[in-house]
Amino acid sequence: MACSRYEYVKSYEQDDSILPNVWIVIRIDGKKFHKFSKIHDFEKPNDENALNLMNAAAIAVMEEFRDIVLAYGQSDEYSFVFRKETQAFKRRSAKLLTYVTSLFSTNYVMQWPQWMKDRKLNYAPCFDGRVVLYPSDENLRDYLSWRQADVHVNNLYNTAFWKLVLDKGLSNQQAEERLRGTFSADKNELLFQEFGINYNNMPAMYRKGTILMRKRLELQPGDKTRQVIVPLHDDLISSKFWKTHTELLGKYTPGSYKTTAELPRL
Ligand code: ATP
Ligand code: ATP
Ligand code: MG
Ligand code: MG
Ligand code: MG
Ligand code: MG
Repeated sequence: MACSRYEYVKSYEQDDSILPNVWIVIRIDGKKFHKFSKIHDFEKPNDENALNLMNAAAIAVMEEFRDIVLAYGQSDEYSFVFRKETQAFKRRSAKLLTYVTSLFSTNYVMQWPQWMKDRKLNYAPCFDGRVVLYPSDENLRDYLSWRQADVHVNNLYNTAFWKLVLDKGLSNQQAEERLRGTFSADKNELLFQEFGINYNNMPAMYRKGTILMRKRLELQPGDKTRQVIVPLHDDLISSKFWKTHTELLGKYTPGSYKTTAELPRL
């Protein structure tokens, strides 16, 4: 474009490029989804289709950004982990954040009918986003463990809460009082004694959230392997996860798995 006397204003823009050699995590979270989930009739405590819609939107983001090595989602949030060396958008923070957040949001809306079927989308949902940098592998593992511990605590509570409300007819307040001050073991016991539920047998997606990773798979036996994004609902707090998926930490080498036989479980 031609130069103009106004062009100096460009120099007011700030350099927000992220320093090299750190894990870049972008976390998005739905705005007021407590209300959004009510208005859109989400099943409580877990609407499976709504979670799958979140997963589908996250997969679309990973398809666009090849440098995302792992994504982790639960409830109305998703975290995207970029490989340390990424040069996407010259590592400009605002560009990365706004692109990921808006791409996620538009995909959430576009794919709504596919997952939510006849449930009409009543208003435009929106997501906030933040960029967090982690210098060490340990920090990154602790970050992901923190998010997975969060879903564990919330889901155990919500499962007990909604059982008391929906099956036992307690009011929200009564259920809340019943659960006040209880520990995890108490809630596990309550679910088992009063509802015959073994919490550990509840769907893993509800208990553990969803991990999206790239794996090289033989889609048909004997065919060429292809890189695909696979959802896992594993425990990522334990070191077993990181020993199984050795390609994640340190330098990322795409396609280190050659056959499905080498995969843990899908
Ligand atoms: P980048 O991703 O770098 O922004 P870009 O292709 O979006 O790439 P811009 O400089 O933002 O580049 O330019 C936007 C382009 O979109 C315009 O050059 C024009 O071709 C097209 N465009 C946008 N709005 C309209 C419109 N209302 N009618 C016709 N063309 C449009
Ligand atoms: P904020 O705007 O501060 O994020 P919020 O209402 O979105 O407020 P969160 O802490 O993000 O608060 O919690 C999200 C809420 O969305 C959960 O508490 C839950 O009620 C609801 N929710 C999200 N996903 C689902 C789902 N798949 N099934 C049922 N409820 C869900
Ligand atoms: Mg929030
Ligand atoms: Mg939210
Ligand atoms: Mg949330
Ligand atoms: Mg443009």
